[in-house]
This record gives sequence, C-alpha cells and structure tokens, in this order.
Amino acid sequence: MTATLAEVVRLLDRRYPPRTAESWDRVGLVAGDPAQPVRKVLFAVDPVATVVEEALDWGADLIVTHHPLLLRGVHTVAATEFKGALVHRLILAGCALYTAHTNADAATDGVADQLADLLGLVDSRPLVPEEADAAVGLGRVGELDPPLSLRALAERVAAVLPATAQGIRYAGPDDGLVRTVAVLGGSGDSLFDQVRASGADAYVTSDLRHHPASELRERAEFEGGTPYLIDTAHFASEWPWLPGAERALIDDLAAHGTTVETRVSTRRTDPWTGRVPSPSEGPTP
Ligand SMILES: [Zn+2]
Repeated sequence: MTATLAEVVRLLDRRYPPRTAESWDRVGLVAGDPAQPVRKVLFAVDPVATVVEEALDWGADLIVTHHPLLLRGVHTVAATEFKGALVHRLILAGCALYTAHTNADAATDGVADQLADLLGLVDSRPLVPEEADAAVGLGRVGELDPPLSLRALAERVAAVLPATAQGIRYAGPDDGLVRTVAVLGGSGDSLFDQVRASGADAYVTSDLRHHPASELRERAEFEGGTPYLIDTAHFASEWPWLPGAERALIDDLAAHGTTVETRVSTRRTDPWTGRVPSPSEGPTP
C-alpha cells in the first residue's frame, strides 16, 4: 500500500514535533499536496539545486531536508530567482519538500543523538534539556568508554563523518584526555556556557569563529585546561541524522502497513570545495 503525503507528514511530525522547533525556525511542509501519493523519499541536509536534481532524476515524491529552504520572509517564488526556481522545479515535478530543523536537532534519535551515537558516546543526555521534557533538547553530552586523547577523538570524528574540504580542526593538546564529550550538529558557539557547565572535556560542533573559540580556550587554560574544541564542517556534523531519519520513516510506515522507497542523498552540499594546507615553512608565525 502507498502512503499519502498527509500520512507521511503526520509520521514525520510525530518524530520531530514542530512545537519543539526554536521560535525563529520554519519547519514542516514547504511544498506538496497532502493528497499526493508518496512512493519515493530522498533525505538530505540542504534543499539546494543539486539535491533537487538528484531527487527529480530518481523520481522522488518527497524530499526531507534538515535546513529550511524559505527561512526568512519571501515576497516571490518566481522562477527568475534561485529559490523560486527550485520551488517551481519541485511543484512541476510533483515532488514535495518537508523540513525538520531545530525540531530534528532536539528529538530523540535526532541530529544530536545520531552524532553522539556515531562518536560512540554512552549515557548521553541533552546538553540543553527542554523544560517540558528533559529527555529531549539541543545537543548531547555523553561519555567515551574508554577515554581517548583529543587527537584520537578528532581522528574518530574524521573517520565517521562524511569527507569535506575543511576536514577536522581541533583546539587543545594532542594528548589531552577526553572522557566527557558535548556534541551539537551545526553552528555551536552559542552554547559555550552550557558546554562549560556540563563538565565536558571536549565539544564537537561546527562553524567555530576566532573570537568565541579563542576566548573559550584562553579561559579554559586559565581555569584548568578543558573544554577542548573539535570543529567540523556544518554539513558533516548534521549528516548523521539522515540514515537514522530514513530508517525511522521506513519503520513508521511499515507499522501502518505501507511501504516506501528511500534514499539518502549522495551529494556533498558543504559549500566549501577546496583547501590548501599551509606549507610547513611559511611566513612566521
Ligand atoms: Zn544546520
């Protein structure tokens, strides 16, 4: 039996309740007719042209993305504009678009949970528990058993996340001991206070800027050494959600006696395409 889009949206909303999204966020169904059948679903981090192309080439009926296509106010979806052109391609091809963003960050088995699992963290709990339900919330804090050096943890992060031009950067001594790890998929420097309060030895996140990172490390050195920082490409730290979300939808639809064909996008939508390592004998410092 084939599910309708309305049924699929109901199941996705149950996994990633829209009310748990941040107030500034825009989640849920972006394009699509609730009555249309859904046979093929593509999961991706970004609703960008290459992903829409992949979906339409495959004949997808629905794309589930983490990032919103239309986060800020829009006054046109004309095909003369890059986002409007994507909306047109989707609607003309009968392909729906659904977004689970900060509601997927917070959810059980959501973005943060999947990242924590992939890094081998145990006993993980939300970094910022929700008031209504402390079992969910932004980020996760968990334990490495056995502990690892900072360098070994960074190597593990590099090994389990999709490859990107940036690779993995870290701040702290190579041999610094890491037992407790905080993780947050996507941009994470707004949660430094919570990371310090959690007692984490290292924080794995993305988009870390000079001043917040420098100040966090200076303060840590002054106060005892931790937390260390591990910085990944934004796309890479959120990608682990996709296979989990795919499995969850298959299971949820199976419980209703319906089947669906799914695929995780193979397109690397990290915007950075290259990197030149600094030569060992460059200008000083
Ligand atoms: Zn993100």
